[in-house]
Amino acid sequence: MELSYILNELAEHREDYFRAVSPPIMQTSNFAFKKVADLRKSFENEYADFLYSRGLNPTVDILRKKLAALDGAEDCLVFNSGAAAIFAAVLANVKSGDHILSVKNPYTWAKKMFEDILPRFQVSHSYIDGTKIENFENAIQPNTTVIYLESPNSWTYELQDLAAVASLAKKHGIITIIDNSYCTPLFQKPILLGIDLVLQSATKYISGHSDTVAGVLSGSGPMMERIFNSEYMNIGSGIQPFNAWLLIRGLRTLEARLERIDRTTKEMIPFLKQHPRIEKVIFPLDPSFPQYDLAKKQMQGACGLLTIQIKAQECATIETFCDSLQHILMAVSWGGHESLIIPKVSGMKPEAFDPVNPEHRMLRLYIGLESADYLINDLSNAFSLIEHLS
Ligand SMILES: *Cc1c(COP(=O)(O)O)cnc(C)c1O
Repeated sequence: MELSYILNELAEHREDYFRAVSPPIMQTSNFAFKKVADLRKSFENEYADFLYSRGLNPTVDILRKKLAALDGAEDCLVFNSGAAAIFAAVLANVKSGDHILSVKNPYTWAKKMFEDILPRFQVSHSYIDGTKIENFENAIQPNTTVIYLESPNSWTYELQDLAAVASLAKKHGIITIIDNSYCTPLFQKPILLGIDLVLQSATKYISGHSDTVAGVLSGSGPMMERIFNSEYMNIGSGIQPFNAWLLIRGLRTLEARLERIDRTTKEMIPFLKQHPRIEKVIFPLDPSFPQYDLAKKQMQGACGLLTIQIKAQECATIETFCDSLQHILMAVSWGGHESLIIPKVSGMKPEAFDPVNPEHRMLRLYIGLESADYLINDLSNAFSLIEHLS
């Protein structure tokens, strides 16, 4: 299916809503029936028809069809956050006594689920360095039911060889789940590489305007139907119609935004790499990246999110640098119109800062829709203000 068709036409039936070009927001909690027999049919299978908006809703359905097509998946469910998509995907595939094999340092709330919630139900986990396939082979236990991946992750961008992990997991009957937030389905399609379940935080590039929190989970038809009938309906964290409409609107410009951000990122990397105050730039599609070849093989692009490691002896120097930026905002998240920065030191006490530890000198930069010159000026000015600081 062509990308232009998915973003502009798929699942839109204008004759059903007064030929409006922009689909309506079906802001309704319930749907009425004329006959008991129809209501009964809907009770029997809520996944087949509109009954109640905690389940299916027509505006959400337009979005679902587009997002599933983007992932190359049979079906998808859209949640009120990426964290909810992670929770449902994992919960649906473990029971008491099972073991989860996860890449180390997964997204914060995946980690909290593995460490704080699932042990209460006798579900164990172990973390591995996912850059080597042998590490997966060696860590699989007889009770492993889920392999949890995040490729690349969103601070240091380590990758897993998705096709290799998928084929290993299939041999052992293990379900593979990947957090694909970094790439979006435009730049990586894990389903086509054999991964079972793909999720992403739609808060990031899909929304694209920093105004919606949402998550997507894609997979096979039977798997999504099973998750709909249990975790999705029970947790009740499906996306609301208005937020679904905002995501449909975000999708219209997804390709255009990513192209623009990709260009700006490519213009900024040479500036960052030559700057005397920057020790290292970490970006999966830069030839200096340790897994550059794998990135080129399984990703069709990467844009916007990268990490710089700056030279600083004091925590205060990093703080002055960030405090001095005039345009790049200091905030969590990414994928919106606005460029962002977040220093690693914001997550630790200043006394704990150790200049010898390169991680402490990392700053994550998200490049948004501003021009490269505008952003380079902002960074240059902030660097000049710390010139005299060690
Ligand atoms: C933001 C994010 C999430 C969580 O998504 P929410 O929409 O914030 O719940 C999950 N994984 C990654 C990599 C993220 O960046």
